[in-house]
Amino acid sequence: MKKAVAYLQPFLEAEKRAGAPASQARILLATVKGDVHDIGKNIVGVVLQCNGYEVIDLGVMVPADRILKAAKEHGARIVGLSGLITPSLDEMAHVARELEREGFTVPLLIGGATTSPVHTAVKIAPAYGPPVVHVLDASRAVGVVSGLLGAGAAGVAEANRKKQALLVLEHEKRSAKPLLPLAAARARKMRLDWPAADIPVPSFTGVRALHDVPLAELVPFIDWSPFFHAWELRGRYPRILEDPVVGEKAKELFADARALLSRIVKDRLLTARGVYGFFPAHADGDDIRLFSDAARARPLATLHTLRQQMEKPEGQPLEALADFVAPKESGRLDFLGAFAVTAGIGVDALCHAFEKEHDDYSSILVKALADRLAEAFAELLHQRARADWGYGRNESLTAEDLLRERYRGIRPAPGYPACPDHTEKRTLFSLLDVEMNAGISLTENFAMTPASSVSGFYFSHPDAHYFGVGRLSRDQVEDYAARKGWTLAEAERWLAPNLGYEPEAAPTVRIDSAVTR
Ligand code: SAH
Repeated sequence: MKKAVAYLQPFLEAEKRAGAPASQARILLATVKGDVHDIGKNIVGVVLQCNGYEVIDLGVMVPADRILKAAKEHGARIVGLSGLITPSLDEMAHVARELEREGFTVPLLIGGATTSPVHTAVKIAPAYGPPVVHVLDASRAVGVVSGLLGAGAAGVAEANRKKQALLVLEHEKRSAKPLLPLAAARARKMRLDWPAADIPVPSFTGVRALHDVPLAELVPFIDWSPFFHAWELRGRYPRILEDPVVGEKAKELFADARALLSRIVKDRLLTARGVYGFFPAHADGDDIRLFSDAARARPLATLHTLRQQMEKPEGQPLEALADFVAPKESGRLDFLGAFAVTAGIGVDALCHAFEKEHDDYSSILVKALADRLAEAFAELLHQRARADWGYGRNESLTAEDLLRERYRGIRPAPGYPACPDHTEKRTLFSLLDVEMNAGISLTENFAMTPASSVSGFYFSHPDAHYFGVGRLSRDQVEDYAARKGWTLAEAERWLAPNLGYEPEAAPTVRIDSAVTR
C-alpha cells in the first residue's frame, strides 16, 4: 500500500461519496510527446491508486504510438493525457486522431495547465468518437473515472457531449468577435516618450553563467502560494495555514515540505544553475533586433513579437513587447536582457529513490519544491540583473514586494500571454548558450527540461508591463510567418491557441520540419 498520504484524504473521502470504484480497472496515464509536465498527473495517479484503480504511468514525453501500444497491451479501460505547454494541445488532438484511427473505444481524459474544457470540446473531442473528458483537477479525477466506468457510463458520456456542444457554440460566438487588421493595430501601438526616456546601460553586455548557486540563497525568495496550488489547496501563503477549511492540511503539507527542503539544501540534493546576459537592442517594427556590439552594426539575433488586435476603447494602445524597446528610428541606444535558470538538476535521481520505496508523496514533493526553487532563482537573478542594469541598485523591496513583482521592468517568458510563441525559446537558448551554461535543453515542442526551469527576457523600461496578445487575425499570422521564415501552416501550428480564425486545412500530417530548422 502507498505510504500514508494524510494530505490526500479529502480526495479519498470525495470518492467514498461518489460510490465504489470499479475494482482494479487499469488506467493509463501519459504526459504527451514534447512535454515534461508531471506533478498534476502524479497526483491524479496516486489518488486513483488509493481508490483501487491500477495506474500505469508512462511518464513524460510519450509519443502517440507508445501510448496506443501500451493501452492495448495493458488493456487500459481509460487513457489520460497530460500537458503543460500549449503545443501539447495539438499533440493531444493528434493522439485522439490516432486512437480513432486504430478503433479504440476507451474514454480519453485530458488534463494539465494549458488544457481547458473549451479546447477539449473544440479540438480534441471531435477527433475521437468515445467520450473525451476534460478533468479540471485531481480532486475530480476519481469522480470522472468512476462515472465513466460505472453502471451509468452512458448517461455520463451523454451529459459530457451535451456540455461540449454548448462550449463549442460559445466558442464560436467568441471567435466571431472582430479583430483589427494588423496595419490598424500597428497604427495604435504603445508610444513611449523615447526622446525623454531614461535608458539605463547595463554594467556588462554578453553572457554570464552561474554554476551551482547555493540553494540556501534561493530559499528566502520562494513564493509559497503556488506550492499549495500545485496540491490544489487554494489560498495565499501564509494566510492559507490558518484557513478554516484547508488550514490543517496546508500546515501538514508545509511542515513536510520544509523538512524535505532542509534536507535538500543541507545535503545538496539538487543543483541550481543559471545564465543571463544583456544585449544592445532596438525595436524594428514588431521585431527586436539584438547586436553583439555597441555600435549596433553586428546583428546577433532577432526576436519576433506579436501584437494585440482586439477591439479596445479609443485611446488604448494595442501592444506588442517590441513597443517597450527603443525603436531604431528614435536614435536611442537601448538594451534587452535574457535569462534561463534551473533547480531541476538531480530531481530525477531523487524521485527515483523515493519511488523505489513506494513513497510517491515525497517524489511529488521534490518536484514541487524544485519548481519553487527555480521560480525563486528567477526572482533572485532578476534582482541581480536590475542591479547590473543600474536602476535596481537602490531598491528597497520587502519580500512581499518581490513576490508581487513591484519593481521596475518585467521578465516575460516565451509561451506566456505576452509572447505566446514557444519557439522563441530557440533564440533565447542560443543567445545564452543555455544548454552549455545552465544544463537546460528544449524538447521538440520547446518545453524546458529538466522541468523545474524558467526562462525569459528582461525589459527595463518603467512602463513595460505584462499583457495578453490574445487572438490573432490571419494577416498578422501571415506577416509573422514571413518574419520567422515559416510557411503559413507552420505559423498556424505554433500559434494555434491564439488563432482568431479557422485555418484553411487543418494539417493531417504533422509538420515536424518546423522543429529542426
Ligand atoms: N512568484 C511566481 C512567479 C511566476 S508567475 C512563482 O514563484 O511561481 C510570474 C511570471 O510569469 C513572470 O515573472 C513572467 O515571467 C511570467 N508572466 C506572467 N504573465 C506574463 C505575461 N502576460 N506574458 C509573459 N510572461 C508572463
